[in-house]
Order: sequence, then C-alpha cells, then structure tokens
Amino acid sequence: MSAARRRPPEAEEAPPDWDAAQDALADEAVRLALERSREAAARLREAGIARAGPRGVAGLRRVAVLAKDDLPDLQAAQPPFAGMLGVDLGVLRRIHRSPGPINDPEGPGADYWRMAPPLRAAGFERGDVVLNTFSYHMTPGGHMMDAGLRAVGCVVVSGGVGNTAAQAAFASGIGATGYVGTPQFLLTLLERAREDGIPATFRRALVSGAPLPLDLRRLLEESHGVSVFQAYGTADAGAIGYECEAKDGWHIAPGVVVEVLDPGTREPPEPGEPGEVVVTSANPVYPLIRFGTGDLSMFLPGKCDCGRTSARLAGFLGRVGEGVKVRGMFVHPRQLAEALQGVPGIRRYQGTVTEENHRDVLVVSVEPAPGQPPNLDALAARLREAARLRVEVRAVKPGTIPEDAPPILDLREG
Ligand SMILES: [Zn+2]
Repeated sequence: MSAARRRPPEAEEAPPDWDAAQDALADEAVRLALERSREAAARLREAGIARAGPRGVAGLRRVAVLAKDDLPDLQAAQPPFAGMLGVDLGVLRRIHRSPGPINDPEGPGADYWRMAPPLRAAGFERGDVVLNTFSYHMTPGGHMMDAGLRAVGCVVVSGGVGNTAAQAAFASGIGATGYVGTPQFLLTLLERAREDGIPATFRRALVSGAPLPLDLRRLLEESHGVSVFQAYGTADAGAIGYECEAKDGWHIAPGVVVEVLDPGTREPPEPGEPGEVVVTSANPVYPLIRFGTGDLSMFLPGKCDCGRTSARLAGFLGRVGEGVKVRGMFVHPRQLAEALQGVPGIRRYQGTVTEENHRDVLVVSVEPAPGQPPNLDALAARLREAARLRVEVRAVKPGTIPEDAPPILDLREG
C-alpha cells in the first residue's frame, strides 16, 4: 500500500482558533446574503436580522433552514436560481444541473468549488496525472474536480462516466497515478485492468459521491494498493469535508460553516447523536445561509493531530427522511446494514418499529439462509451496539420479507 504524502495543512485549514474563524465566516456570509441573495435575506429578516454584525454561528440559530429538497420547486417558481444568485447571470462560467433537478451556477475564477484542499490533503501534487471519472455532461461533478485538480497543478485525464475497458487501458497506457470518482467505479476499473492483464498504475484516489463501506476501502487499499481518501461536497456549497492522512473523519473544508442539527427540532443533537449537515457559505456568487443538505453525520470529539484545527464529521450516516426515532434515538437503515453486513446466515432482514404500552419497540426480523441458522443473540448484541438501544431479533420463515421491503418500517400510529 502506498502511504500518503504527508504535507502540512494550508494556513486556511489551520486557524489558531477554529471556532472564532467559523464565527467570522458566518458573519461574512450574512453580510453577503443580505446584500446579494433575496431568498436568504428574506429568511434572515424573518429571524430579526436586517443588517450585518458580529453574531457568529450562534446568531444563526433562529434563521429557518432552507432544505435542499425544496430547491427544485423554488427554482421552478423563480428561474433559474430562485433569487439566490449573488451576481449578474452573465458573470457565470457555466450552469450545470444536478439531480432534483437543481440548477447549479459555476462562478468565475479558478477552483470555484474549492476542491484543491481535499485533493492536496489526499497527497495530490503538481504534475500528477489523474483520471477524472466524474461526469462532465450536464451534471457538475466532472468540472468540480477538474477545477480543483488544475488548481493543484495536476494533469487531468478527462475520463467521464462509463467505457470501463477503454478507460482502464487509457489510464494505464499514460501511467495515470491518480484517480477521482466514485469508489465503486474505481474498483470496477481495477478489476477490469486485472482481468485484461493491464498493469495498474493508480497509487492514490480521491473518492466522492457514494458511500465508502469499510470492506470496499480495504479491498481498494489492501488488494489493489491504492490509498483512498474521501471528499464530501455538493454543487451548491462546494467542498464541505475531506479526509487527511489520518483518515479519521472528514475535516470541515475552508470556506463553509457547518452545523449538525436534529432534523426534527433543528437544534444541535446530543453529543454522539447524528443530525443533518447544514451549511452556510460566504460565497459572493451564491451565498448560502443554513442550507440543509439532507445528509446525516455527526461531529467527532477532539482535534486531529495532522495540524488542521477544524472540527471533523463522522462521515456519511445516511439521508434525512430514511431514519426513524425510536425511544428518542435516531435509527437509520445504515446502522442496521452495518451491523448485519457480512454476517453469514442472513438472507434478508427488516426492522419494524411498534408501540407497546407507550413504549417504542424495534424488532429486526431475519430470514435465515438455508442450512445456516444465524446466532440471534449475537445479532441482537451487534444491533444494540450499532443502534445504541435494545433491539429484539426474530427469525422468520423464508419468503416472509418481500424483496423490495423498506429496511425499517414504522408501524406506530400518528
Ligand atoms: Zn487530520
């Protein structure tokens, strides 16, 4: 396995007082939004904020969150950007479209989405030849990474999506040492190269756009010798988080204020509880105030010893709306999947939440695979650890759980 090139963080990644830097960034975002975004200015005024001033992140608490899921309707009512664009339309470089559909502006200047810090933290350097397999067509992913790679000084190989055999041969033939794209497609390329007898040349990868389960990371790193780093971002907010060489959570990216809020109460959850990632961005082209990404994560305790002073997120923990609250604890399908992943003897499973005597009960039904009865007590222990509450496990007859059953079914009334 190739080790990460250890490089000191940039100054913007390591302000001496990170919380104070977040407060200053929040104030700057409010100033820009009041001046440039009709949409954000309206929400700020509703919360009693009519002019810029030193309020910090805490000053945003009363401002309503704008859900990313509401953007398609807002943009359709007020095309193309729902009053959120901070510059004249003619200043933009490009307009992209994300699934939703959502129109995404690309402002002027190099590295509009600030992808260079994640790439540098992953060890990418000037002169590296890097295959970019995000789409360049309509959706912004290809351009987001392309701009960051160019800002770092890398040579970009514009692979785009698909064409596995051709891309594997192309990347190997020109000796590309770097990869950016989804982790699944990296595995597909590496396996294809192996099958076709093509020497693999990738040494490091920055992956994004899809979850990276531990077993996939191990396969890529240990079986294929590629050092894998994750980045997290959206077309609206740019880079939001990324891994350093410690690979222990996602550092908050420079340029954004990140809050984690309980999706129900919109208040910070208890420490160790997941919540929605809500982003505020001091981007003069597209200022965002409390933009609810719909992604779930939580803050990790303590600081990383890489030198970056930023807080870290615990990675992707699912999407808002997929989880349920059980006895006050948020339970997400991913937690069940992680607990049951790789356990032999399970054909299918489903969690159901019911109420008995005014108490929530989470039962996980398990269809055993033929001839391999799983140990139900061991399963219950794994699930209890993953969900942080008591879980009952029941074996059910094969065929009981439909193939397309939702992973968690909420059967409580009201
Ligand atoms: Zn670090």
